[in-house]
Amino acid sequence: MDTPEASLFRKRAAEVAEQLARYIDQGYQGLGPAVSNRPMSDVRGSLQAGRLLRDGFASDQQFSEFVSAVLSDTTHLHHPGYMGHQVGSVETATAFGDFIHGVINNPGSIYEMGPSATVLETVVLEWMMEKIAWCRSKSAGVLTHGGSLANLTALLAARGRIAPKAWTEGTPGDLVVIAPASTHYSVARAVSIIGLGSNQVWAASVDQEQRLLSESVESLIERAKDEGKRVMAVVVNACATTTGLFDPIAQVATLCEKHGTWLHVDGCHGASFLVSEQTRHLLDGIDRADSVVWDAHKMMRTSALAAAVLFKDAESFNHAFQQEASYLFYDHERNGVDYLGRAVECTKSPMGLKTFLALAAGGETNLARYLDSRVALASQAHQAISQRPGFECPYQPESNILCFRAPGSDADQVAIRDALLRDGRFHITSAEIHGRRYLRLTFMSASTTPDTVESLLDWIEQWLIGR
Ligand SMILES: *Cc1c(COP(=O)(O)O)cnc(C)c1O
Repeated sequence: MDTPEASLFRKRAAEVAEQLARYIDQGYQGLGPAVSNRPMSDVRGSLQAGRLLRDGFASDQQFSEFVSAVLSDTTHLHHPGYMGHQVGSVETATAFGDFIHGVINNPGSIYEMGPSATVLETVVLEWMMEKIAWCRSKSAGVLTHGGSLANLTALLAARGRIAPKAWTEGTPGDLVVIAPASTHYSVARAVSIIGLGSNQVWAASVDQEQRLLSESVESLIERAKDEGKRVMAVVVNACATTTGLFDPIAQVATLCEKHGTWLHVDGCHGASFLVSEQTRHLLDGIDRADSVVWDAHKMMRTSALAAAVLFKDAESFNHAFQQEASYLFYDHERNGVDYLGRAVECTKSPMGLKTFLALAAGGETNLARYLDSRVALASQAHQAISQRPGFECPYQPESNILCFRAPGSDADQVAIRDALLRDGRFHITSAEIHGRRYLRLTFMSASTTPDTVESLLDWIEQWLIGR
């Protein structure tokens, strides 16, 4: 006999699974809109959240309607028209990780609270370090809640190496971080949080395509010496958020080795491209970095959030966090490792479980196939766009991100994106490169094809004629 809890769970889980299966189906077939853009008050109305909070679900029917309302006002990441933000169009097996976690609630921080969560985190981290070609016995990592936190953790370790007393005495005033102007804002935030002040992020010059110029890094390192400053870290993008282009990691690694400077690779979006033989070369030199961050919830198709911060030298973790929590970091024979001492978080979700499931669903081969197909599509889109009169692409894409311009002014690009969002069939973003406004495509959904791109371009042309 089921307990009442188990019986209700079984029934409602079946209902949720049924609705989600239909949702997946509709997504892949491109039925309905890619994005819901209804005003907040309308969405509130259909969720009836206020009433439900007060009274609770009165029946299975009400529960089912609520789930259906939730699913109607979503951005549909499996839809072919979804070419928006860099959020993973998930391998749906990852959902079982979130689902299982929702029942067992075993945080992945200390071994005794979740042995299987800890083991899967270890397995995922080892797999990542192997992809970077680091020595498993010397390197170490941790999964943390997002790339922004991962960048913060990496920079804390860099601070700890150059200024070992900073943890207890505060951040010295002579530290700077060199990063290309195209760096994600989370790096400047981390630098501020660490106490350097965001003015201590020195922007290295980038080329026309916003790729880091390594000469500029060298001259900034020299300038720092002249001004009596110490370079805490050099940050490179793999790849840059706006353009999807990769900085020259190997060139910068050579400079960092020469000057004894910490090299941090922000691989939030692009580290996954290590998995494919066709794209691995984009990350040449990554094994020479001191720290790498890698988001699983972008190109590894895991649900948000799951990010890794990885150090070539495991000792780096001792520099990052020098705090003791005696009730947790006791020192005797244990069955497994505790990840607590390596992360900002105390309690954290078992990110290894869902990342593992996303990966194991089809294995590495499947992931590589997905990555290759999305890169190939960006390349095909580049061609299709360049052939349309009045349209232009500022660069040949390297990853699955591509910027382009439709005929018209900067303001027109923004107007096109707004009109697309109102229409709902396609979800795209927009970005600025060297002060010029572009439309931006990120090919995340596995169902997007060259035909989708042609329909998008047709739509834009028609809209421009008809307005
Ligand atoms: C997405 C991204 C980030 C931020 O990662 P979150 O997981 O969203 O916190 C940082 N850097 C780069 C290059 C990114 O693409």
